[in-house]
Amino acid sequence: MITRSPDLLQSVIPTVVDETRDWQTQLAGAIRDPRDLLARLGLDERWLPGASQGHALFEIRVPEAYLARMRPNDPHDPLLRQVLPVSAETDSVTGFVSDPLEEAAHTPRRGLIHKYHGRVLLIGSPTCAINCRYCFRRHFPYAENSPSRAQWEETLAYLRHDPSIQEAILSGGDPLASSDKRLAWLVERLAEIMHLRRLRIHTRLPVVIPDRVDDALLAWLK
Ligand code: SF4
Repeated sequence: MITRSPDLLQSVIPTVVDETRDWQTQLAGAIRDPRDLLARLGLDERWLPGASQGHALFEIRVPEAYLARMRPNDPHDPLLRQVLPVSAETDSVTGFVSDPLEEAAHTPRRGLIHKYHGRVLLIGSPTCAINCRYCFRRHFPYAENSPSRAQWEETLAYLRHDPSIQEAILSGGDPLASSDKRLAWLVERLAEIMHLRRLRIHTRLPVVIPDRVDDALLAWLK
């Protein structure tokens, strides 16, 4: 049984989300230190060694708005367990691989995964607002799949030349971690490809930083 220590009981800071901060500021201010996360929730530091080991492999990232939904003093809170690194992440397990969906073998252009007929996935952003411990893309080579605008042209040409592709999924990372301007540019270019019929956006931003869904984004989506 893990409990918070008495001294931490005194230092628990009520979690208040400053709604005057825009989403970019909230994104930049996400918690990135396991010690901070434990302290903010009043949790015992006996969780720290394991959290630090997991954090060294895949950094912790927790926005304040998401933290505000957690129960303090509960190491089993399901929202916390999605983001709290644990030492088991360092285990080598037979049959476990770093690319479980074999995406590396289906990346014909930078920022593009083409694995299924008629559908492609585009890396709309290499970063996320939250780093989920269960992420199957935690080892994905984002550095090699973050195209410049010139490199996007090569990726878009791939789409233009394959009329069987009818669906594009903006994913990542989290595409809504990109600016509206950058998103608009990419989507306008996709809209020029007449055989594309559907655009899907895979994101956790509306849940973990609800202020991401602001007037500017809604206007653009409309
Ligand atoms: S890609 Fe999705 S599952 Fe993976 S860390 Fe980002 S938000 Fe979480």
